[in-house]
Amino acid sequence: MHLVFFGPPGAGKGTQALKMVTEFGIPQISTGDILRAAVTKGTELGKQAGPLMAAGKLVPDDLVIGIVEERLKEADCAQGFLLDGFPRTIPQAEALAKALEKQGKHIEHVVSLEVPDAVIHERMKGRGRADDSPETVQKRLDVFRQQTSPLKAHYEKLGLLRTINGVGALDEIFAAIRKSIGR
Ligand code: AMP
Repeated sequence: MHLVFFGPPGAGKGTQALKMVTEFGIPQISTGDILRAAVTKGTELGKQAGPLMAAGKLVPDDLVIGIVEERLKEADCAQGFLLDGFPRTIPQAEALAKALEKQGKHIEHVVSLEVPDAVIHERMKGRGRADDSPETVQKRLDVFRQQTSPLKAHYEKLGLLRTINGVGALDEIFAAIRKSIGR
């Protein structure tokens, strides 16, 4: 089970990913979580990523690609994984495909959680993360539209895109995700 959860900040990727972890026992790989941990620890990676994250911008491709390449080699990824917040650019998607190919694997489904901007702004009010101020949320939505949303057409062409309505009861969304991946 090799999955990507795709969608704007606040679409519910993390929440639904946790339900997948519980149900199927595959690890969630969140580049955002890994980067936040690096910022907290004050590592070199964290020092590079921190200011960009605070501004709602993307961290350079080579940094996040390196993180994911290393993470995918770990033993708990042997039976599959769920990528949450990666890839966010076409070069990241291409690097991912290459890294998996080396292991004889490939992404089976890209689950796109669709949520209107107005709903996202409403949801982010309650979250309290450092990069959740209304201005930074707007910046992250702009970045998503400009740099990340082209991935939808990329994965659609590959026949991997599963589009899910991300507004509604958590269990209903989860059921729709399961249906879309045939599980
Ligand atoms: P997230 O928790 O996925 O919303 O990520 C929080 C922040 O981490 C993003 O706004 C980016 O600054 C950075 N980030 C996370 N994943 C990536 C990625 N795949 N590519 C570039 N930057 C990322």
